Amino acid sequence: MSEGAAGNPTGAMMEAAFAHHGLAWRYVNMEVAAEALGDAVDGSRAMGFRGFNCSMPHKVAVIHHLDELAPSASVIGAVNCVVRDGQRLVGHNTDGEGFVRALRERLEVRGSRIVVLGAGGAARAIGVELSFAGAAEITVVNRDQVRGAALAELIAANTRAEWRPWVGDVFVPPGTDVLVNATSVGLYAPDDRPAVEIASLVNARLVADVVFNPVDTRLLRDAAAVGCETLDGLGMLVHQGAAAIERWVGVSPDRSVMREALASALTT
Ligand code: NDP
Repeated sequence: MSEGAAGNPTGAMMEAAFAHHGLAWRYVNMEVAAEALGDAVDGSRAMGFRGFNCSMPHKVAVIHHLDELAPSASVIGAVNCVVRDGQRLVGHNTDGEGFVRALRERLEVRGSRIVVLGAGGAARAIGVELSFAGAAEITVVNRDQVRGAALAELIAANTRAEWRPWVGDVFVPPGTDVLVNATSVGLYAPDDRPAVEIASLVNARLVADVVFNPVDTRLLRDAAAVGCETLDGLGMLVHQGAAAIERWVGVSPDRSVMREALASALTT
């Protein structure tokens, strides 16, 4: 373990799953500088790692060092999970898959109408996977036109999609199944929430947040107060981790054990 990598909640979650299933694998967090990324990937090959996760800022740059991309990672254009297949390193993206799996525990994704706030890395992964999962309509609301329009165009290959500029407070249209905050607003800021017209939140069946620190974001608190169902960011994080473990060791881990370990690591 290197400096800066101690006390990582994701590591605690993954190791809890290994321990629970009696698996003799280890999940070790390492801080890698941008200029050392290629050497780190080569090191993982040399040491026979089964695979690794990578977080920002490496999710795009790592692609250059891999042998192959799985289909959704290729469309999303980012990798958060690498799996060794023989001597080949294959890049996957389990972020959007994690969100969709968490959402499926609450409602039928196929045919749903979804408003995605944001068009950064998390929004891109979520938007693409929702379109693969058969969402009927996805509206991307983002401040930056270039990123917002590009994401809507990418999604439109599979489903009806449009970009809407973020002007003032976002109005959630009647008939919305899911409103998801995929921006970084609220991260480490329990009193902040994305600019949304609060009275219109009742138009969404479920309000989700990708932000997981704090878990109970201001958006989710406000949504619950007007009677919406809510889905916190831990669900996505747990399910993306579970999807990685499935790919690395072929075991479908117990999500409740992972969620408990994650929640406890976040509060200590
Ligand atoms: P990016 O930097 O790639 O994107 C950030 C997005 O937030 C952009 O679309 C940006 O809009 C938007 N944004 C930032 N500030 C504001 C604001 N004040 N008002 C409106 N929009 C704003 O970040 P990521 O996509 O990588 O991460 C976003 C969040 O997702 C983070 O909090 C991260 O922790 C979380 N995350 C959670 C995961 C989970 O498993 N739960 C997994 C991955 C990420 P613009 O383009 O206009 O600048």
